[in-house]
Amino acid sequence: MISKSLLLPEPASPAHICPFDQACSYLEAAAKELNLNQGLLEILSHPRKVVTVSIPVKLDDGEIQVLAGHRVQHSDVLGPYKGGIRYHPAVTLREVSALAMLMTWKCALLGIPYGGAKGGIPIDPKRYSVGELERISRRYISELIKDIGPSVDIPAPDMGTSAREMAWMMDTYSVNVGHAVPGVVTGKPLSIGGSLGREMATGRGVMIIVREALAEQGKSLVGVRVAIQGFGNVGSAAAELLYEAGAKIIAVSTGAGGVFSDIGLDIPQLKVYAAENRKSIMGFPESVPISNADLLTLPCDVLIPAALENQITEENVNQVQAQIVAEAANGPVTLEANLALEARGVTVLPDILANAGGVVVSYLEWVQGISYVFWDEERVNREMEHLMVHAYHRVIHQSKVRQISLRLAAYTLGVGRVAQALTDRGLYP
Ligand code: GLU
Repeated sequence: MISKSLLLPEPASPAHICPFDQACSYLEAAAKELNLNQGLLEILSHPRKVVTVSIPVKLDDGEIQVLAGHRVQHSDVLGPYKGGIRYHPAVTLREVSALAMLMTWKCALLGIPYGGAKGGIPIDPKRYSVGELERISRRYISELIKDIGPSVDIPAPDMGTSAREMAWMMDTYSVNVGHAVPGVVTGKPLSIGGSLGREMATGRGVMIIVREALAEQGKSLVGVRVAIQGFGNVGSAAAELLYEAGAKIIAVSTGAGGVFSDIGLDIPQLKVYAAENRKSIMGFPESVPISNADLLTLPCDVLIPAALENQITEENVNQVQAQIVAEAANGPVTLEANLALEARGVTVLPDILANAGGVVVSYLEWVQGISYVFWDEERVNREMEHLMVHAYHRVIHQSKVRQISLRLAAYTLGVGRVAQALTDRGLYP
């Protein structure tokens, strides 16, 4: 049994599905498969550093509000810490810690020289003005100024943040150190050293992994029926690229509910509609409304949860009808639900593989930034495609050789690479 709560508060309640406990269970399963010794498992179960800062912010009405800002650095055995910053009301320290651990395995699986980190502020960004969000982002990053840097820890966008927040953070860091430091964040606007292809990268990665999984079954994307939960950065890019490749996107949703069309939604039109209606997709012509819960159980070939964690659980797993579930979000399928899907022969494409496109292009952005050579979009997409397809085939191979699920295969590859590096580096002192 590992002592996994050393630096973290206890879970909210025993009934609550704790994302950190879930991440540790996957780690333990991988460690067992790899025969890792207990000491290594203990080290990997603990984040290396957990930071919580208070963020006092002056609101537009003159009131002062104090927010909590977290940054969890799980491992830097393979290179600088890397991971997004999330603005969402459900953010907790245990959730951020779980996501930081997932980043470690994700980077290791993809063979990119980073460790894992994650940050988060428990707010609903829609409730704050642009000016307030700017003040929150700047104060958060200035509180963390000693903990981040282009060779220390490199934040990126995550749920509720985008290139806009990255620009504020890059500027705040740069002003504080006295010169421009583009490499301190990725997912930046192009004007300050962002990469072509970064915006669509996570969605593109999802499309590539789904395409490869279908190819494994002798199928192509053409005509495949897909349901996507989430129409944010990841869900909308995946929808667009799958649509372009010939798939039929029969349903998509946002937090407020979804839209369904049996003949398939016109995704380019839906994107225009959402842009014109303050991101709402409800009322899209020639579609009928569908709830988030019903979307998950639609008859379809491919289901892509691209929103929050814990969406497919013991409660609804038996109603899931898709043959392929691609985890575009982090942790959308619970441990028990995952076992039930596997037992039914459903292919579950695990998050650390399926949604790795974002961090892969973050890496390519960082490489371009530190070498002062910028590539065209075709080159970025080609390099990313190569890394994603290679990782996919390594996972398939591992799963066949060891007779284990794709998730466990992905974890054994990620955890195994970090454990090897840790063993080779040795323990200081
Ligand atoms: N937030 C994204 C993820 O969870 C991207 C992280 C990054 O680019 O560093 O993978």
